[in-house]
Amino acid sequence: SVPAPPESQSFHWHGFTQMADFQNIVIERAEGCWLTTTSGKRLFDGVASLWCNVHGHRNPKMDAAIRTQLDRVSHITTLGMSADITDQLAERLAEVTPGDLKHVFFSSDGSSAVEAALKMALQYWHLKKQTTPNSSPTSTTKTRYLALSSAYHGDTTGAVSLGGIKYFHQLFAPIVFTPVRGPLPCSYRLPDGVHSDNACDYYANEIESLLKQHHAELAAVVMEPLVQGAAGMITHPTGLLARIRELCDQYNVLLIVDEVATGFGRTGRMFACDHEGVTPDILCMGKGITGGYLPMAATIARPAVFEAFLGKSSERKQFYHGHTFGGNPLAAAAAVASLDLFRDTNLTDTIDAKSQFLRECLAPIANHTHVGDMRGRGLMVGIELVADRESKTPFDSDQLIGRKVCERATELGAWIRPLGDVIVLMPPLVASNEELRFLAETVTQAIEEVLA
Ligand code: PMP
Repeated sequence: SVPAPPESQSFHWHGFTQMADFQNIVIERAEGCWLTTTSGKRLFDGVASLWCNVHGHRNPKMDAAIRTQLDRVSHITTLGMSADITDQLAERLAEVTPGDLKHVFFSSDGSSAVEAALKMALQYWHLKKQTTPNSSPTSTTKTRYLALSSAYHGDTTGAVSLGGIKYFHQLFAPIVFTPVRGPLPCSYRLPDGVHSDNACDYYANEIESLLKQHHAELAAVVMEPLVQGAAGMITHPTGLLARIRELCDQYNVLLIVDEVATGFGRTGRMFACDHEGVTPDILCMGKGITGGYLPMAATIARPAVFEAFLGKSSERKQFYHGHTFGGNPLAAAAAVASLDLFRDTNLTDTIDAKSQFLRECLAPIANHTHVGDMRGRGLMVGIELVADRESKTPFDSDQLIGRKVCERATELGAWIRPLGDVIVLMPPLVASNEELRFLAETVTQAIEEVLA
């Protein structure tokens, strides 16, 4: 590997990582599931370029759709006007999202999609209060949110406020709000006396007691469904999402589901909510929406939410939020092409079999003395490395075990990233069995060598 240049000479300030800690990897080309560095090394894209590249790189149909749109219009404002391709995309998203989710608000990244959802929920309760007979026209009291422990919803201020991962959160305490904090519904480390068959009830009861106490001040419950990705692929007990949906109805609180990571086939259904037949009031999506080709995100709401905002601007009902690049036509063309590919290749229906194949290839390493848990849904896999498997004791974080495993995997030809000591595998959904086997064998070798 080529040593990294001194960090002080870098013009490019990288998010989260300090490049000086890593090998010097600069990509100049990509094709299918493979990245090629400027020094000619080929790397399997084991995290689908941060969970986005659903169809792999340089898919000819995706490339052609973007080129065609480039010859029509590449950017307009969508404040007060529309692009035909963007309207088409909104309709297609309404078709593929759960239940009666219908009205799409576009933004440019997952954090902003969450931010829009928070403001939508707050303004919704405000507008509802205004139109309820005999209620005072003052602002709603429903201005808080319930978020789960170790939640991650992005890096803008509202999203950080919801976040429960210490390092992303604590430094910024002076500029964030405090949500009502729910439990971390973790299936691996269960509280004393809780077993896998009563875990769903246990966590649902915890959330219900918070709703009982706080419902009058809560605008919404906000959660990642089924798997909390950045928390370390924390996998919720089956059925919990459906229980939370029922509780939100019972306590008159909106449900905002953040499918930025889980959306677009990743878990084996188009959206993770589909596993439990849940329709949230508002759903946030990003990452895979354009197949990883262009930045775009969206927040989709049910008619009951959208209709509260109907009326002339003079009635002051319009949503007070809007982005310069929201609904960008080039990104919209990529997103429509991606949905066409999903439809034409039945991609989502292939994920359960691929997931099973990947897990079979990983089965030998699952028994390693330092592999505590292998979890996730579909092609969203987390391998937690622990100091002691029996007691589930983590490694000392200063040992940087997860990072060392990923660095070794990179040397061996697969680019993967750790979340602490959880090794994350999120390959492009189009990865072949041969490629999934390569990924599994590379990770296995890296874990065996680092933890020999
Ligand atoms: N929500 C979830 C669940 C995410 O995983 C992420 C990104 N990892 C975000 C929101 C933020 O998305 P972005 O980085 O595009 O702002």
